Amino acid sequence: MRGPALHHYATCGICGRRADGVGYAIDGRMPAVWVCNDCGPERARRAARMRDFDVVERKAFALAAQRAGQFLDTIGKTDFACLTCEEYEAFLKTFQTHFVEEIRRLVEPA
Ligand SMILES: [Zn+2]
Repeated sequence: MRGPALHHYATCGICGRRADGVGYAIDGRMPAVWVCNDCGPERARRAARMRDFDVVERKAFALAAQRAGQFLDTIGKTDFACLTCEEYEAFLKTFQTHFVEEIRRLVEPA
């Protein structure tokens, strides 16, 4: 079993972006799952109790990778050496945006 990022209060344990000082610890016992405001305490509560958070991360990563690949298809380039700086940044932003959206969806409160 591996939980979300439990020991790092500066990074959101769900989406990996900067945490905002909101956390949840099962039964009030540290370590807490620290999260950003966009992920919020309800997702932190749910993520802290997930038995295998790695599966959630892998699913979100796979979907984000697929979406980033689709971005490359839309610009008609698959060779990274041919990307402009703007295209490369757009590729990375596509991956990050979809990773964050998907992992939040997977940790959505029931
Ligand atoms: Zn977050």
